[in-house]
Amino acid sequence: MPEPPAAGASEPPDAALGEIGRLLAGRGVVVLTGAGLSTESGIPDYRGPTGSLRRRTPMTYQEFVGSAQARRRYWARSHAGWQSIARARPNAGHRAVEELRRGGLVSAVITQNVDGLHRAAGTLDAVELHGGLDRVLCLGCRRTSTRADLDRRLHALNDAFRDEGSPKNADGDAELPDALVAAFRVAACRACGGILKPDVVFFGENVPKPRVRHCFDLVDEARALLVLGSSLAVMSGLRFVRHAARAGKPVAIVNQGETRGDAYATVRVGLPLGRTLTALADRLAAAPPA
Ligand SMILES: [Zn+2]
Repeated sequence: MPEPPAAGASEPPDAALGEIGRLLAGRGVVVLTGAGLSTESGIPDYRGPTGSLRRRTPMTYQEFVGSAQARRRYWARSHAGWQSIARARPNAGHRAVEELRRGGLVSAVITQNVDGLHRAAGTLDAVELHGGLDRVLCLGCRRTSTRADLDRRLHALNDAFRDEGSPKNADGDAELPDALVAAFRVAACRACGGILKPDVVFFGENVPKPRVRHCFDLVDEARALLVLGSSLAVMSGLRFVRHAARAGKPVAIVNQGETRGDAYATVRVGLPLGRTLTALADRLAAAPPA
């Protein structure tokens, strides 16, 4: 017997799309994106139904900083997964968001993704809430460097390293056999010999305060908030949804599956993002707002 629709369930797609279209046509919409936007670029959503969060717990900041063995495990897995992130290209969803931004309908883009795909789609000022995998930070001297440079060094240090198609996830790492991890050689900062960490926010670590304030300002200046492809499982994104809702601003959510923000949503729809956003962008381009 079919279950009755739960509270906060999606509206019929056409009605919901119409409402999101009207929201965008009013301009001043901040977009908050999550892993669901990048799955169509081949980057799996580790919180989604097939995600690897079910198989293992992501490394915390405390583990990473506290243990050389944990860092070796992190960098070995990350090295194996990096190529799939580096090769990934923006999909129709990223391109539609950029089209809406260029058209003045979207005022700002905040992303929880660390894959750099909004920037690759031309949204150069997308706020990367959790940082970016294409940069590396030294915990000693705080210098940042490029992941491309570190990638060359890790290849040179680990020329015998061979990863045989292990599963990859959205953090840009891979499941690896213990023997590969144990043999992996980690690189240190060229300038000071300090510990290198990807310039991303780990679990157990806070998003830098100025970045959070900037995002609250963007939401304050906006008329509405549109969430794309996030289950809002972590507070770092959910707080902006709550903030917008408390200020009486409309919150629209496009995500396949329930989200922790559903109770705050004025409209929600569970359709695939690439197709949905392209349809919205086309509709708005065909009938530009007065
Ligand atoms: Zn350093």
